[in-house]
Amino acid sequence: MKKISILGSTGSIGEQALDVARLHGYEITALTANSSVDIIEKQIREFHPKKVALVNEKAAEDLKIRIKDTDTKVLAGVSGVCECAAMETDTLLNSIVGMAGLEPTLTAINEGTEIALANKETLVAGGRLVTDTAKKKNVRILPVDSEHSAIFQSLQGNKHSQVKRLILTASGGPFFGKTIDDLKDVTVEQALAHPNWSMGAKITIDSATMMNKGLELIEAVWLFSVKPSDIDILVHRQSVVHSLVEYDDHSVMAQLGVPDMRVPIQYALTYPDRYNSPAKQLHLEDYATLTFEKPDYETFSAINLCKRAIEKGGLYPAIANSANEKANELFRQGKIKFLEIADLVASALENINSKEEYTLTDVLEKDKETKEFVTASV
Ligand code: NDP
Ligand code: MG
Repeated sequence: MKKISILGSTGSIGEQALDVARLHGYEITALTANSSVDIIEKQIREFHPKKVALVNEKAAEDLKIRIKDTDTKVLAGVSGVCECAAMETDTLLNSIVGMAGLEPTLTAINEGTEIALANKETLVAGGRLVTDTAKKKNVRILPVDSEHSAIFQSLQGNKHSQVKRLILTASGGPFFGKTIDDLKDVTVEQALAHPNWSMGAKITIDSATMMNKGLELIEAVWLFSVKPSDIDILVHRQSVVHSLVEYDDHSVMAQLGVPDMRVPIQYALTYPDRYNSPAKQLHLEDYATLTFEKPDYETFSAINLCKRAIEKGGLYPAIANSANEKANELFRQGKIKFLEIADLVASALENINSKEEYTLTDVLEKDKETKEFVTASV
């Protein structure tokens, strides 16, 4: 029986990963969350993990009392999450949201554990660090993000050296077709109303600003060792073609399916095998048309901010990511306007210094500095 650990098990991806685990009877080694005590208690009673960790110390204390009739050990804090990440298991699925996923990812890689990665911020902030460590430890990083899973699937059986370009598809989010003027006063509620995917709050706002596609461009650079200039983005409103790969002969391979994250989650856990899925079958005749068009790079300026950050290299992608994490949070708290998110990312990239070579400490310090800069700017 396959053994997996899930970091961020109480979130949107985490719960869908447990659907897949339930269907295939996987054994759960460890689960972690920030503070969702009720949900993780239910998960412990169903899946009997050896260890769980909650970042929030108070919540961890509460959980210890609640589950004292079980054999599961409860840990607390970031060190508790890293202790879970270090446990021996077949695959560690990281579905933590944000930079907080970086340290546990590196911990698991250093233990030689295969990674199924949903937590894109990890690759954006520490791409060189993560991929170099994975290479050194001979550890595979399998993509969970639907676009990257589609590219990974479209690369099977072909030569990497014969890839001409990657084409990332984007739903366009709730504000597709809007002008800058239209977006001046949009509310958090409007930004959270994603047309095709039900996801956590942070990534849903990232989809509305299209920062998500910028982060995914950087994620693709690290996952597939391509240049930023070899990645194109197309808005595809129906979210059926999950991404494409063009080869030297101009043949284009794509992966299609209904929008359901359990497909890419499962593929990352069963690769290279394919099994029965909890997702619905795709019936193309249900879709009158599939459309593709260029993004509006002026209105959704976050995409090119990310592209420039990865072209400049060093810590610039980390700065863009951390500025966005903070600005995204401030928007959700009603403290800034929607368009200020991208403005704050641009300002952080202009004002904060990078360096070419970096360590984990450098990334964590830059994260702190950038978030303080954004907070002080509003
Ligand atoms: P959610 O917000 O739904 O879940 C986040 C998870 O991370 C929860 O378990 C949460 O615990 C935990 N968490 C939050 N903060 C911390 C922290 N500081 N330290 C440790 N754990 C923490 O997010 P999603 O599931 O939507 O997204 C997870 C990741 O997957 C993101 O990187 C996202 O970009 C990526 N992704 C998501 C997709 C989706 O469809 N949802 C699609 C593609 C990628 P708690 O419940 O206690 O807060
Ligand atoms: Mg995606």
